[in-house]
Amino acid sequence: MCYAIPGKVVSVDSGKATVEYFGELKQALVIDADVQPGEYVYAQGGVVVGKAPEEDALPVLEKWKKHFFELKHIDAGLSRPGSGFGALSPVIEKARKTGTLAVNEMAAVLEAEENLEMLYSEANSIRKEMLGNACCVHGIVEFSSYCQNNCLYCGLRRNNRGLRRYRMSEEQIMDTVDYAVEQLGFKALVLQSGEDDFYTDDMLAGIASKIHRRHGILIFMSVGERSRECYRRLYDAGAYGALLRFETSDETIYHKMRPGKKLKDRVDLIKYLKDAGFVVATGFLVGLPGQTSRHIVKDILLTKSLKPDMYSFGPLVPHPATPLASAGKPGINDVLKTIALSRLVDHESKILVTTALETLAPEAARSGLLAGGNSLMINTTPPGFRESYDLYPGKAKDEALGQTVKNTLDLLCSLGRAPTDLGV
Ligand code: SAM
Ligand code: SF4
Repeated sequence: MCYAIPGKVVSVDSGKATVEYFGELKQALVIDADVQPGEYVYAQGGVVVGKAPEEDALPVLEKWKKHFFELKHIDAGLSRPGSGFGALSPVIEKARKTGTLAVNEMAAVLEAEENLEMLYSEANSIRKEMLGNACCVHGIVEFSSYCQNNCLYCGLRRNNRGLRRYRMSEEQIMDTVDYAVEQLGFKALVLQSGEDDFYTDDMLAGIASKIHRRHGILIFMSVGERSRECYRRLYDAGAYGALLRFETSDETIYHKMRPGKKLKDRVDLIKYLKDAGFVVATGFLVGLPGQTSRHIVKDILLTKSLKPDMYSFGPLVPHPATPLASAGKPGINDVLKTIALSRLVDHESKILVTTALETLAPEAARSGLLAGGNSLMINTTPPGFRESYDLYPGKAKDEALGQTVKNTLDLLCSLGRAPTDLGV
């Protein structure tokens, strides 16, 4: 099964390839591949991750051709602009035209209680118009549940003594990656862990380099606040992506939620990663104690100002063994409105629909994709480890990974989304 279809390189200029997919032209960065016009490539997250010999590419494209246009047709049918927004009409109209809103207008969208389906339709139609039906499907490998930090919201926090912790060996990580890439077709994987110094910079760079050389996929590191030197080495080893949320843009809430940590350090690191050329995913938690709609507006604006390649935000799901055990969960509409608002003020962004959202309601992934979202992640951590990566309740699914992949592809197909990332 392919998560990306090959495209034909039309031209290469200043480190960017223009790639054609059934008549559509997309741009993708060329970092270390030697790519020539006429060749076929795979692109993920806006980066060329590998080449496909013509004799392999053509049959895949032939198989996809009919499907590609069928999916577009389904998407078009499900992505009609909204109407009848009531009091929000001028705000929505302004957002559609300009892609910017004032803080009080953004807060009004988050505080709306009526005509929400219309709001979601509008955001979904902007997504379709600006980005088409491409949907990134990235896998995530959770390789260590040890963490030296004590974030109040997280089940992996140091003080959660009841958690059975694990560390995957390099061999276990490689087996997991091999399976995800070779058997399931993933072309982008996130390597995630607690902040765990057991893995030295050398070890992480060695693992990234091995994956890069063996598979040529887009690797995202999600390992928290490692040094700039560490991230530079990871990039040089072939991990071109980084997932690092700033969690909240509010200093006071940040200080309470992440004891001993500074918001500025985190944001500066995200800026560094962007400047260093990483494909950056960042964002925040929705539903932190003390957070108001104004805070979420600030969170969205900070995300936008960081110019990330992907928005990654999701609900706080309170974990019983953390100090936030009795915090209420946000409602699904709180998160859907945040997705829709992010789309209204950043038309061309990739917005991840997180697995945490799926714990709030049945069919939440579908709802998120119909409210402006256009990316998904699938947990590819093997059973035996997966249950112990206990960030929040309801996270680990019992079903076999192959089944999750099939369900995800069926969902995308029913919505007319192509499970592929066609470029920036
Ligand atoms: N340790 C790294 C870090 O903090 O960036 C990466 C792993 S951390 C578990 C990944 C993300 O999990 C965090 O950025 C946080 O937003 C999210 N998370 C932690 N606890 C959560 C909870 N109870 N509900 C929802 N998301 C949670
Ligand atoms: Fe550790 Fe990340 Fe959890 Fe914070 S969010 S406790 S850094 S794993």
